[in-house]
Amino acid sequence: MKILVTAGPTREPIDPVRFISNRSSGKMGYALARIAVSRAHEVVLISGPVALTQPEGVQLIPVLTAEEILAAVRRHWDWCEALIMAAAVCDWRPIRVSPRKIKKTMMPAVLKLKPTPDILLALRSIKGGRIVVGFAAETDRIEQEARRKLQEKNLDLIVANDVGRSDAGFEVDTNQVTMIPAVGEVEHLSLMSKDAVAERILQWIEARYSSTKTCTKST
Ligand code: C5P
Repeated sequence: MKILVTAGPTREPIDPVRFISNRSSGKMGYALARIAVSRAHEVVLISGPVALTQPEGVQLIPVLTAEEILAAVRRHWDWCEALIMAAAVCDWRPIRVSPRKIKKTMMPAVLKLKPTPDILLALRSIKGGRIVVGFAAETDRIEQEARRKLQEKNLDLIVANDVGRSDAGFEVDTNQVTMIPAVGEVEHLSLMSKDAVAERILQWIEARYSSTKTCTKST
C-alpha cells in the first residue's frame, strides 16, 4: 500500500526565536513509518521537528507548522491509499507573527491566538476510498472523546491513549492504547512497545484494505 504518515509536534511561531509547541517526540509516528516499510509498504513520512533518525526506505518531508503539514498532506493526497495522522498538531497559533525578535520588555502579557487548520477535518469531504487513521491523546473521558473525534473527523479508526500516564503517550518508548474503529470491535491493547502498537495498527489497516478490495471486486 501507499501510506502517508505524519509525526511529531508542530511549531507555531511567535517571532523568529520563539514558538508554541507540545511534548510530542514523534516516536509513535516514526515507529509506524519504520514498521510499515518492514511490511513492504511505500511510505511518505511528514515530520515535525524531532530528535529521531530518519527510518530507512522512507521519503521524509520535514515541516514545522500545521499549515505546512496540511500543504504536504494535500500534495500527497492523490498518491496515498491510507493516511495515519500521528502528528500532534498544535491546535492554536499566534494571531500575529513578529518578523523581528520581540524585546523582553515588549512581550505582551496576553498572547492572542487563533485556531490552526484542522487537517483531518479539511480532508473529510475528499476522503474517497482512503483509509484514514487518527490519534486521540487524552487525560479525561478518553474513550468518549476519541469517539467524538472519530465521528467528527470521519475516520476509519481512532487510536486513543492516556497521556496522563508516565509509561504511555508522550516521549516514552511504550504506549497503552485503545483502537476504536468506525465499524467493528473496540480493542484494548495492553502496555507494549510503540513498535508493537504500530504492528497492530498496520495489521488493522491491511485487513481493512483487503476487505474493501474484496468488496469492490465482488460488486
Ligand atoms: O488535537 P486532536 O485531539 O483533535 O487530534 C486528534 C487527531 O486530529 C490527531 O490524529 C491529530 O493528528 C489530528 N489533528 C489534525 N489537525 C489539527 C489537530 C489535530 O488533523 N489541527
